[in-house]
Amino acid sequence: MNSVVNPNDIRGVIEADRAHVWHHLSQHKQYETIDPRVFVEGRGMKLWDAKGAEFLDAVSGGVWTVNVGYGRESIANVIRDQLVKLNYWAGAGGNVPAALFAEKLLTKMPGMSRVYYSNSGSEANEKVYKMVRQIAHRHHGGKKWKILYRDRDYHGTTIGTLATSGQDQRAAMYGPYPDGFVRVPHCLEYRKQWDVGNYGERAADAIEEVILREGADTIGAIVLEPVTAGGGVIVPPKGYWERVQEICRKYEILLHIDEVVCGVGRTGTWFGYQNYGIEPDFVTMAKGVASGYAAISCTVTTERVFDLFKDAPDDTMSYFRDISTFGGCTAGPAAALENMRIIEEEGLLDNTVKMGERLMDNLAGLMERHEVIGDIRGAGLFCGAELVSDRATKEPAEEKKVQAVVAECMAQGVIIGATNRSLPGLNNTLCLSPALIATANDIDAITG
Ligand code: PLP
Repeated sequence: MNSVVNPNDIRGVIEADRAHVWHHLSQHKQYETIDPRVFVEGRGMKLWDAKGAEFLDAVSGGVWTVNVGYGRESIANVIRDQLVKLNYWAGAGGNVPAALFAEKLLTKMPGMSRVYYSNSGSEANEKVYKMVRQIAHRHHGGKKWKILYRDRDYHGTTIGTLATSGQDQRAAMYGPYPDGFVRVPHCLEYRKQWDVGNYGERAADAIEEVILREGADTIGAIVLEPVTAGGGVIVPPKGYWERVQEICRKYEILLHIDEVVCGVGRTGTWFGYQNYGIEPDFVTMAKGVASGYAAISCTVTTERVFDLFKDAPDDTMSYFRDISTFGGCTAGPAAALENMRIIEEEGLLDNTVKMGERLMDNLAGLMERHEVIGDIRGAGLFCGAELVSDRATKEPAEEKKVQAVVAECMAQGVIIGATNRSLPGLNNTLCLSPALIATANDIDAITG
């Protein structure tokens, strides 16, 4: 057994990382060939690695999470104070930060009234799937149990949420999956599937076609990202959401919006769905809720849904038969409350709108100069540039080309992302999602 590495021995830390840490999304052959980059410090929009190199982070912690930026002492202090007072309670009854954060959060979500806590986006989404199934058993005689999901969307890494992955390659190795999850087409107009006037309405009508094929009485809910993240930063076209809402009401299908990425400010509103005036039955959120300072996710729903769990003939089922052990950690809601205070006090939603416009303008400038950019899309500080090898045919750029752009930016000290490495046909969109604190200088440096 090796001795414990001294944290100041950078070479030792890097070797320990190489030898023992199983990294997310890293090709195993890289372990032998690449010196792993170990990050040691972050402040605002900046990151430093173990060798002292400085980076401007244009992806908020790699996966759209650190919305208020790094090094927030006030969040660290709130967490510390809460931990020494009461770190955890998940038994009957509640705890103070859980109540305070739920109340505050709901002031930003008119129409919603209940918050169910857990730890990750996947878990928050699974809770909805279970709720939908319980409602089906209790109120629809076991019918209305299926859940629709959309091509190119992503909802998590568990077997249940992978069953709703619209990105096949992520799910391919982990089947077979449970029944009852049915795919509807994506709505990316740049990759047209229908030649029609109003593309948004047509793409939504495709959902209705699936409902009619499956039978409306079998379908309980549909899960959709407000802006598809890892599937290519897809902003639904005009008319889409209105029609989706209409269809859900017509067939009594519960609308679940997965705000794991868009939630808590990313698109310039508190939640992505609020850009479209829709009224969901479920909203799930995770990444930006506490900006990565603590693990927390929320499944938020309406009083109408909450009431469906009351008054079962058998009292033992008059509640949601579920628990999340670490849903009782107080650090999450304490950090989340402070995270919201910062967003409000520093006017970060307005900043997101302004800086998002600047980012899109800059991307439009880049597109004029670089043929390789086929399309740009964005909502607030959540932007994508789809790379193609030929603008006329829209042939997606090869993965190595996309990765070369990412690597070149890294070499120049700017960390950008790309959608879903090794997802054939989906891996060609560069992702830019800086923290909501980004300044004009930061935006210009990212696109410089
Ligand atoms: N939903 C969306 C839209 C996501 O992008 C992700 C993760 O990237 C998830 C759910 C899963 O979240 P987690 O990784 O916290 O389980």
